[in-house]
Amino acid sequence: MSCYRAETSTLESGTTDGRDHNPLALMQPRAPAKTPVDLRNGARVKAHNIAPHGVYMPNYNVLTPHMRSPEYVQMSTAAAITLGIMKGRMYRCSCTRCLNLLLTYPEGCRANCAYCGLARHREAERDYADRNFIRVDWPAVPMAQVIDIVARDGAASPFHRMCISMITHPRSDEDTVTVLKQWTARIDPSAIPVSILSNPTTMAREDVKRLRDLGADIFTVALDAATPEIFDRTRGKGVQSPHSWKKYWEILSDARDIFGPQKFGAHIIVGMGATEHDVLALVQELVDLGGHSHMFCFFPEKGSLMDHLPATPRDQWRRVQLGRYLIDYRGARVERMKFDGEGRVTDFGVPAAELEEVIDAGVAFRTSGCPGKFADDISACDRPYGDSPPSNIASFPFPPNKRDIRKIRRQLRIVERKD
Ligand code: SF4
Repeated sequence: MSCYRAETSTLESGTTDGRDHNPLALMQPRAPAKTPVDLRNGARVKAHNIAPHGVYMPNYNVLTPHMRSPEYVQMSTAAAITLGIMKGRMYRCSCTRCLNLLLTYPEGCRANCAYCGLARHREAERDYADRNFIRVDWPAVPMAQVIDIVARDGAASPFHRMCISMITHPRSDEDTVTVLKQWTARIDPSAIPVSILSNPTTMAREDVKRLRDLGADIFTVALDAATPEIFDRTRGKGVQSPHSWKKYWEILSDARDIFGPQKFGAHIIVGMGATEHDVLALVQELVDLGGHSHMFCFFPEKGSLMDHLPATPRDQWRRVQLGRYLIDYRGARVERMKFDGEGRVTDFGVPAAELEEVIDAGVAFRTSGCPGKFADDISACDRPYGDSPPSNIASFPFPPNKRDIRKIRRQLRIVERKD
């Protein structure tokens, strides 16, 4: 088996203090500030009640128009550039393969997740449509315009998948159904399949079934935290937020029953205090249930309750990326891996030759998510620079080249075998 452990150094871990992982004690969110009553629930936007006109580019220097789903949705900057409604270029990639859509309301998301730029505690500082999310701005676009453009492009569309991201809002369930119906009425879901990034807190089993019956392809739960303790600390009572670990697993198991094998999964954020063993044990549990895990490298999102904390050191991230890929796509098992006292991987439990081949192939270090048309292990949801700056890429939104692989090997401390 491929035993590996070497001294860390600051150079590649990207940390200034030589840490090669984010320990639990360090990753404590700050407490949310109280929002003045007159600024709660989108009061500012509703008071001014400015009618929206076409595409709205986030700009907190102007009064935000009164936009609501299902008429309006927000989308990632990468999707807006790819759809042609926004000018711009992305470092080393020409487009994104996933049209990530986000429900939008002046009241915004009523949850308060510590690492998220959309969280409720930001009401006083930013209107919902002006908040950054996974490191970028999210323009607001009439849903009818989105569908017109994609329908017009037909088979030439660059998108391999569309995803509807729900939020914690009383209208979220109903409007997700409406957006899905509007999409499938004009766009063949077998040509561009639809994923649902769900909000279990407001959902029940019949909601999951309804989305499947309406043509949704994959159902994902953004568990994000790898342990119940970190979940509560970052998404539950710890930050005055309504989510519960129990409810998230309840809906995840409903999705397993209703969507079936390979058609459900969970998002996991690495570097919020869980050990590599915690994360890979969760990945194994999801694989054993027949699902997939979609990984995010923790990044201190501006304005979030964790924006004062360090991003995930790259060596921790690379070890988890590699371990997750081996479990999710190469039949490796966490029980056959070895971990040190800090829960760091010291042996991936696969033959050295296989480990070399997987590292050199580079797919393990690409963004993980719902698949596109290239291969089952290549995510359409490539989220360009959603969890890191281009200067220190965490999830590659394109195939890493030889130079990238050399850097990844340095981060992993695995030198290339010559034999
Ligand atoms: S991986 Fe991407 S496409 Fe899949 S549910 Fe998550 S955000 Fe949506």
